[in-house]
Amino acid sequence: MTKAKKRKADPAVRVEELRVVIRRYEHAYYVLDAPEVSDAEYDALFLELRRIEDDRPDLLTRDSPTQRVSGEASDQFAKVRHRSPMLSLQNAFDEAEIRGFDKRVRAAVGDKLVYCAELKIDGLAMSLTYAKGRLQRAATRGDGTTGEDVTANVRTIRSVPLNITPAKGLPDVFEVRGEVYFPIAGFEKLNREMEAAGKARFVNPRNTAAGSVRQIDPNVTAGRDLQTFMYTLDPAGPAKSQWDVLNTLESMGFRVNKNRRRLNSIDEVIDYHAEWQRRRHELEYEIDGMVVKVDGFAPQLELGFVARSPRWAIAFKYAPEQAETEVEEIACYVGRTGVLTPVAHVKPVVVGGVTIRNVTMHNEAQVNEKGVYVGARVSIHRAGDVIPEIVSVKDPKPGWKMPANCPVCGGEVVREEPYIAHRCINPFCGAQRLERLRHFAAVMDIEGLGYATLTQVIDRGVVEDPSDLFRLSMDQVKELEGFADKSAANLVDRIAASQRPELWRFLDALGIPQVGEATAMLLANDFGAIDRLRDASEEDLRRVEGVGPNMAHEVHQYFHGAGAELVEKLLAVGVTPEAVEAVGDGPFTGKTFVFTGTLETMSRPDAEALVRKLGGKAAGSVSAKTDYLVAGPGAGSKLEKAQKLKLNILDEEQFKALLPG
Ligand code: NAD
Repeated sequence: MTKAKKRKADPAVRVEELRVVIRRYEHAYYVLDAPEVSDAEYDALFLELRRIEDDRPDLLTRDSPTQRVSGEASDQFAKVRHRSPMLSLQNAFDEAEIRGFDKRVRAAVGDKLVYCAELKIDGLAMSLTYAKGRLQRAATRGDGTTGEDVTANVRTIRSVPLNITPAKGLPDVFEVRGEVYFPIAGFEKLNREMEAAGKARFVNPRNTAAGSVRQIDPNVTAGRDLQTFMYTLDPAGPAKSQWDVLNTLESMGFRVNKNRRRLNSIDEVIDYHAEWQRRRHELEYEIDGMVVKVDGFAPQLELGFVARSPRWAIAFKYAPEQAETEVEEIACYVGRTGVLTPVAHVKPVVVGGVTIRNVTMHNEAQVNEKGVYVGARVSIHRAGDVIPEIVSVKDPKPGWKMPANCPVCGGEVVREEPYIAHRCINPFCGAQRLERLRHFAAVMDIEGLGYATLTQVIDRGVVEDPSDLFRLSMDQVKELEGFADKSAANLVDRIAASQRPELWRFLDALGIPQVGEATAMLLANDFGAIDRLRDASEEDLRRVEGVGPNMAHEVHQYFHGAGAELVEKLLAVGVTPEAVEAVGDGPFTGKTFVFTGTLETMSRPDAEALVRKLGGKAAGSVSAKTDYLVAGPGAGSKLEKAQKLKLNILDEEQFKALLPG
């Protein structure tokens, strides 16, 4: 070992170094809601510090991060002193550590023991004080002793009851504690909205939840779809155990996580933990472990507390869904509209159980906002089926540039204001042709017409645009790799079967710039037939609710320019988009409905078709003319607007109750 390395390993120096960086990362994480490093990296530093302090108690200081609850209350909010400290938890990262916890507990309170296991929600801790059944105050954890008064914001969270009937035996004033979190679907929706508005995406649901609660303007919090799970009651009244507390909270109307279990041995705890490790992606929220608590209050009292956490509970963590790697190349992928999307090819790394090699970024601006470059060390996050994302870059450097020429066809690449995307403007670009055909096949539901088949028919010169698909003969398909008589006949049949699409599907399949499924539906509902849409002026298009001037311009341009010939050809080969049935008379006559969020028992197009069948109108955006907003989980800005306009807001059940018979 060299001298320099020996000096660096001096524990007295190392603890100080570690404390400085840990404090800095905690400030970024808890106060700025903008982590500088991955949780795994932070956890590793924290563990290193704890281990040195365990070995060398003489180096321990009272202000060490291991001795205090991390975080601090910001001056932007009134400060609240907690009646009893809001603590953190000790961690166990593997089976040996959780068995160590069990041993310590049994040594202290004996073998007659029950554990209460709960999911560890990755959100932020919240304290709610109720006085005579009314929500009096909501506060963040802060440094555990002093938190921030965020009452106005928390009042906007729908699952936080403002009035309750206190359970029997509770005093006039009591506190309920739990977690505020951002559901994954809502988080992704928020990021899609940010992207559409040309703004930077949020990093992860946990920090976004914290940022959303710590807003100066409660309206911002209200628009963020936050959720809660409560798990502590203080004082607990007649409850004798954590299990009783959870049931009492539930009976008072608090949202309590159903995934909880009372377990008699540490082996059962380990099994339950493994079960949720497998199933964690079924959940609509992120978890980072399981909290294992000694269930009975009597043994809890006996065990007591250490500096920053109770001795009777532990967070049994899951492997992080974030990992570090290095960017080897930034390539560009060309989509069907010619938009170039930068993709970072990274050194393969396993995140959340899957090997990641490529991470898509969205545009040049995003690459540079994050400061990604070839050779950069990056943290990648991936949870469940969520698309992997670069969440942070060590030593970020802006300055990456899109290529001036298309990487596929060499055509000119331009950025057309006001869009942030760069596009290859060569209409004959091979990549675009392939993507356009693939999009057409996917939207028209032509099964079995994937990239491999399309590439072959393009290369053989038999298909140039979607209308050629309808002229493909059995013989032509049979010659393709991977096809025999039967499979060729099946494909030709499936193509023929797609000839009578709903109008919205046809419009979506065309790939008109800026027109996705939702806009296609708006246009289809409004114009009803393809000919009416083709004849529409820009002005007519702009009149459709939810269609802005840019969109109207693009649609008009399409039918009078680049797209006119394709539409003509498709109609000529027999594709017949079905006209939307004229609005009939019925119980919904004169009523306008808007749907938002996810519906659970029917698709949105089906729900809209139903409204039309019953005489009503299904619109795409909320206005004073809207009669009903039907909001499912994940509803966002439309719901917010409807609340402001004091419109009738229904959930799916209430909507279904309006349907006749
Ligand atoms: P913690 O999040 O590990 O555990 C304590 C918290 O768990 C409690 O305060 C409570 O809010 C929460 N919790 C969730 N479900 C619970 C349940 N059912 N019962 C009881 N509590 C429950 O500890 P911490 O001190 O809040 O934060 C440490 C975490 O924050 C670590 O995961 C760490 O990686 C991360 N962190 C990251 C950075 C960074 O820079 N990336 C910096 C600081 C902290």
